[in-house]
Amino acid sequence: MEKAKKESNSFNSYSMQSLEVFLYRSPELPYPVLREVCDLMQTIKGPIKFKMLEKEESREVTTKSNPKSLRVKSWKQLFEEVSQYRSHHNIQDAYMVFQLTNHPNEYGFYAAVDEKTKSLSFINCAYQDLFPDSTIRYPIAFNIVAMLLLSRLFDKYSELKYLTHQTPRGCLMDWASDRKELLFKMRTGDLCEDCLNVLKKKKIDASYSQQLFNFLDAFSLQMKFKQRLELNPTALKMEIRGVKKEIYFPQLGDLNVRLTPLEKTVYFLFIAHPEGIEMVDIPSHKNELMRIYKTLSSADEEDTIMARVNQLCDPRDNSIHEKLAKIKAKFEQALGKESAKAFYISGPRAGLRTIKSFSIQ
Ligand SMILES: [Zn+2]
Repeated sequence: MEKAKKESNSFNSYSMQSLEVFLYRSPELPYPVLREVCDLMQTIKGPIKFKMLEKEESREVTTKSNPKSLRVKSWKQLFEEVSQYRSHHNIQDAYMVFQLTNHPNEYGFYAAVDEKTKSLSFINCAYQDLFPDSTIRYPIAFNIVAMLLLSRLFDKYSELKYLTHQTPRGCLMDWASDRKELLFKMRTGDLCEDCLNVLKKKKIDASYSQQLFNFLDAFSLQMKFKQRLELNPTALKMEIRGVKKEIYFPQLGDLNVRLTPLEKTVYFLFIAHPEGIEMVDIPSHKNELMRIYKTLSSADEEDTIMARVNQLCDPRDNSIHEKLAKIKAKFEQALGKESAKAFYISGPRAGLRTIKSFSIQ
């Protein structure tokens, strides 16, 4: 009890300069979803700083499962898990911790904040049916913003009925129950007058609420841009940055498509050949592949570099096909199936393959 009191005191003093927010996933949630949500949250700067401790996908952790067959968890259990994560990683009580999960919860909420500490939260990410493509990160990000705001607005759950709207108004606090209502609130990306008034009364730190509004503005613009892409697919622009040739999509919240050095090597070979390359001709590009891989790889051993490139060029080895499949999957995950088509390497089985947006055919 004593501890809870202390936590809530430190939380209510808004003298703090910054708030660290930790995002992590429960094992059934795919790593790229967490990565993309965290990347997206980090694009908007301010006193709220987003972090994730899982730097690379640890293969053992992900347990593939259909969200529909997952067990319903109680709120108590979910908040206990988040609390354990916090202690395990020595995260300060004043910081917020979010678990991203596919597990349904007892009340069927898309997100909730722990009433006692107001710093533990879970976000249900099982939007696969509503958002089959990559835009899944937006409803998740919206709910994170909603929880950051809500955590400042209420004292007890009983107040929530005043704070959420059963009839959609295009407000972040709308109780959106289907795709249409969710899209409505995300496209508006705003708070209604009533909620703004609550915000004023609670005297929330200006830089804190400004950052929350910047999130909403940015996400709703990106959502609208993404929806209109179907009308004009060529509007989507890719940017390549730095010596490590990182791939970004600035119009989509600086979305970063993370390819491994070897995948990038294959990708940039095709960028350098807008006329296209046939699979049988890959071995004739061995020197070029070596040159690209040397600049991108962190392996310094000449032998290792040579072995990997040899494997790519070996017609009996599946390596090159694996890389092509991985590249395609990563672009589809990031951009959605339709928009990705212009950016991965494609073409007939026994013909010239190209990256459509770089092709000169
Ligand atoms: Zn409202």
